[in-house]
Amino acid sequence: MLLEDDRDDTTPWFNVVEPKDGESIASFLLRFRHAKANRISSATRLGELVGADTPVHCWEKLFFSPKPTQKQLEALSRVTRVEVDRLRQMFPAQTEQSRPYPIRICAACCQEDAYHRLAWQFIPVKGCNQHGIDLLMKCPNCKESFSIFGLLEEAKGCRNCGMRFKSMVKNRKASRQN
Ligand SMILES: [Zn+2]
Ligand SMILES: [Zn+2]
Repeated sequence: MLLEDDRDDTTPWFNVVEPKDGESIASFLLRFRHAKANRISSATRLGELVGADTPVHCWEKLFFSPKPTQKQLEALSRVTRVEVDRLRQMFPAQTEQSRPYPIRICAACCQEDAYHRLAWQFIPVKGCNQHGIDLLMKCPNCKESFSIFGLLEEAKGCRNCGMRFKSMVKNRKASRQN
């Protein structure tokens, strides 16, 4: 029997992880690798599984030069079972300039769901449109910088000192009024 599918025996089978609204490719790849039953030890390993010289380890750090090719996106799509167009949305568009670090966050977005949004790294973006507060580049309490893995792992606040996202939101609102 033929399956309507271009997968072959060499394509590994992993659990599907759904991309979230506005999520960056780095955040998605980390969640995909660490998802239950997937457990892919490193970005390099995932890159090997995907093939087509796909620089998964660069994308996981938000380094986008060179930009992903159609062939690489198709290869990643075969392994993640997420459509090519949806994968492409998690990368900056041609006209958007983004910075890989520092990782910036909207504490209010994180309070709702702690994952990394692509738009936070766009150079002209200073705040969150949805919540009307400035983005944070480090924890207001301990001054530690954020990491995407840290956001995903410690979903309630700062991974270093434990300050809650909720308190960071209050802190942002207070600093706006001054
Ligand atoms: Zn927000
Ligand atoms: Zn902290």
